[in-house]
Amino acid sequence: MTVAKKTEELAILGGRKAVTVDEEDVFNWPIITEEGEQAILEVLRRGAMSDVEVTKQFEKEYAEWHGVKYALAFSSGTASLHTAMWACGVRRGDEVIAPAMTFWATCLPALNLGATVVFADVLPDTLCINPSDIEHRITNRTKAIIPVNYAGYPAEMDAIMDIAERHGIKVIEDVSHAHGTLYKGRLAGTIGHVSCFSLMSFKAIAIGEGGIFITNDREIYERGLAFGHYRRHDELTIPELAENQGLPFGGFKYRMHQLSSAVGRVQLKYYRERVEEIQRSMNRFWDLLEGVPGIKAHRPPKDSGSTMGGWYSARGLYRPEELGGLDVTRFAEAVSAEGSTCSPGANFPLHLHPVFNTVDVYGDGKPTSLAFTDRDVRQPKGSMPVAESVQERTCSIPWFKRFRPDVIEQHAGAFRKVAENAGKVLAG
Ligand SMILES: *Cc1c(COP(=O)(O)O)cnc(C)c1O
Repeated sequence: MTVAKKTEELAILGGRKAVTVDEEDVFNWPIITEEGEQAILEVLRRGAMSDVEVTKQFEKEYAEWHGVKYALAFSSGTASLHTAMWACGVRRGDEVIAPAMTFWATCLPALNLGATVVFADVLPDTLCINPSDIEHRITNRTKAIIPVNYAGYPAEMDAIMDIAERHGIKVIEDVSHAHGTLYKGRLAGTIGHVSCFSLMSFKAIAIGEGGIFITNDREIYERGLAFGHYRRHDELTIPELAENQGLPFGGFKYRMHQLSSAVGRVQLKYYRERVEEIQRSMNRFWDLLEGVPGIKAHRPPKDSGSTMGGWYSARGLYRPEELGGLDVTRFAEAVSAEGSTCSPGANFPLHLHPVFNTVDVYGDGKPTSLAFTDRDVRQPKGSMPVAESVQERTCSIPWFKRFRPDVIEQHAGAFRKVAENAGKVLAG
């Protein structure tokens, strides 16, 4: 009896840890094999780091995976988004609509184009842009909507495409969290007019620094080449681009490093099978926590045809009101003390940051977000209630890459133990 009681004691209050198994490589990412190392060495020894032939192969394979016509690789996901905005016609004084809670690169490059960002709120259960919060924000200056498949969860693309089509504007999908995610059976990134993926080292497809965009629209592809890929201007066929070839229109050099594309080709080859294993593991974790108070799965309903892809930056939905008000920071500390990994929150709400409100980056004598518009698009505190509450209502969860049921059970056990003993954490 005393032993059983002792194991129930929370580790943060001096009890035994819930996680005791050896985790080995369960969390290790990316998985680098001999094949990947050889691919890098081959490019390195050939001195081909700045060439494009490996990158073009990578683009071809990436496009084939998605069943789209064109893929264009970049030095970063940020570069792909910046270029996609320009290719979609975002110009001075224009507006783009983006979720208020995402990584900054989803929308911040718009300011560099002289455009500005109008934020829409996110949904509390998906953490993706709320489709009902978009349409009333569209003006005659709106050029694009940029939904994010947040932490792998597919945004509501049907509704978003419908709005965009009715208003004749473009949809730039930010798929940086959602490589291999399915939205109602379709691959994320195949629905918007152009879709941008970060491939930097923390992402689900991790190739170093890099990004890629995919599209079926030849014009968007060529404009992408024109903007920051001056060495590939021989591919241009659209007269107003081809006639002016030779220098990057944007003044940017956005080519992917070939050590990255070499890694990318090998990562891509195995990614689909690795995703299967990640999905099995992560779904097992959430199945084990079904019905536990305070912590809810961030995943689409089963049988919806939608998935979480590689579960990048996996989150749980935290509901303190079910745990007597225990705040997420304290909850995360208690879970971490159990030997699992948990940190509070997700991305900060962007609409409150000075760079979207007061900072004059380019010396226009007024905030950059208002530099080319008379419309004060700034959105004050309180305007995005869901995005503003995300810090208190989400936490990270372990991101399993390997299906090891014993390890997964212990980690789920840590979350369950803290949730079921929330009163003791509050009292302690
Ligand atoms: C990582 C990320 C980016 C930017 O990609 P980089 O490769 O880091 O430049 C863009 N959008 C989202 C949502 C991201 O998480």
